[in-house]
Amino acid sequence: MATKPHVLIAGAGIGGLTAALALLQRGYDVDVFEQAPQLLEFGAGVQIAANGSRVLIALGLEQRLKEVVCEAAGKEVRLWNTGQAFKLFDLGEDSIRRFGAPYWFVHRGDLHATLRDAVLALKKDAIHTSARCMGFTQSGSRVTLRLEDGRAIEGDCVVGADGVHSRLRQQMFDAGRSEFLGIIAWRGLAPRKALSPELQRLVGTNWVGPGGHVITYPLRGGEILNFVGFGERSDWTQESWNTAGSKEECAADFPGWHPLIHEIISKVDQPYKWALVGRAPLQTWTQGRVTLLGDSCHPTLPFLAQGAIMAIEDGFVLARCLDAYADVEEALGAFQRARVERATAIVNGSNAAGKRFHNPVLADGPAAVGYMEQEWAPEKTRTRYDWLFEYDATRAAI
Ligand SMILES: Cc1cc2nc3c(=O)[nH]c(=O)nc-3n(C[C@H](O)[C@H](O)[C@H](O)COP(=O)(O)OP(=O)(O)OC[C@H]3O[C@@H](n4cnc5c(N)ncnc54)[C@H](O)[C@@H]3O)c2cc1C
Repeated sequence: MATKPHVLIAGAGIGGLTAALALLQRGYDVDVFEQAPQLLEFGAGVQIAANGSRVLIALGLEQRLKEVVCEAAGKEVRLWNTGQAFKLFDLGEDSIRRFGAPYWFVHRGDLHATLRDAVLALKKDAIHTSARCMGFTQSGSRVTLRLEDGRAIEGDCVVGADGVHSRLRQQMFDAGRSEFLGIIAWRGLAPRKALSPELQRLVGTNWVGPGGHVITYPLRGGEILNFVGFGERSDWTQESWNTAGSKEECAADFPGWHPLIHEIISKVDQPYKWALVGRAPLQTWTQGRVTLLGDSCHPTLPFLAQGAIMAIEDGFVLARCLDAYADVEEALGAFQRARVERATAIVNGSNAAGKRFHNPVLADGPAAVGYMEQEWAPEKTRTRYDWLFEYDATRAAI
């Protein structure tokens, strides 16, 4: 039997680790090269809807994740000023009944550590830290990954899972066009015990208002509340996940918003801010024996909460393709074909969601209520979300 290809992955983020795990489980030799000196995931919460949890369960991670996720009862939409609430959808058992898998809220660090540990349990030296990938060269049936420290690693296939500022994408397709959107995003974590009882309910909430929206949901069984607040502001253009801001500056971006929003801001440990940047999705992201996955090829605005899930889906589908096709180049072509339409639809859907959340009509009391009832009517909500949650990366056509 022919030896399975040796796969080199650039980036040990959520997508790179998912691909590594799915490949190691299928008997592939995998090496992952991560620029960071330590494998720590920065950031706060991430929502893992049924289309993501289904893959994580197929990877055998359900028991471990159940210890750290929060499985909320449902999600609601609330008006920015009055707090009037409208049901978005039920979760918990309802997600399992309708989509065959749960909807989890999880700390990115917990998800990342779970994936990392599962990879290292199968190959203890699979992940190489302080290993910044700079580019690659292809020759015949081999491909060489070049690292910043001068090393050149040879393998049969290279996967660029190096995130939104991907070096591999830059080599393949230039940097691509990007556009600052005039939206600042704040995030932080608040200890649940410090919050009033209404904020301790195990629900996810999208607060929507004219020119801004706020997402909150519980993490770690409800121990902490995740806060992400988006406001329209054109004086902040740094696309960084780890720039600290002050609570005062954060609060000033939500003038007139409900007292519960200001309560959360006053209780977050440390608010961080970053600027949202829009990028058109690539229509092709494979060249010979090299491909991209996750944010490196289809970065998306976070308004459908699907970016990490797409990286998870990509990682699993890529492993299935490499297993199903004897030829690496054919496998990577099949991977791209299987994923491009869905990825593009999610990027476009996220752009549209932002406009819906920030609609100026939300400033106007009675009109705002009518808008909420119409835009979040059950039928419309199902049309917007069901196709996302129904997708099954473990069986989708490849
Ligand atoms: C505020 C916010 C909220 C979000 N909420 C959600 C949500 O609820 N649900 C959801 O599904 N998604 C969410 N996302 C999106 C999600 O976080 C990303 O889409 C996801 O992290 C992409 O995974 P990735 O593996 O492609 O890239 P990343 O997670 O960015 O990982 C890339 C990795 O590559 C490494 N790297 C970079 N360059 C190099 C290099 N040259 N060499 C080696 N290593 C390199 C990085 O250090 C990193 O470890 C959110 C995003 C934001 C900003």
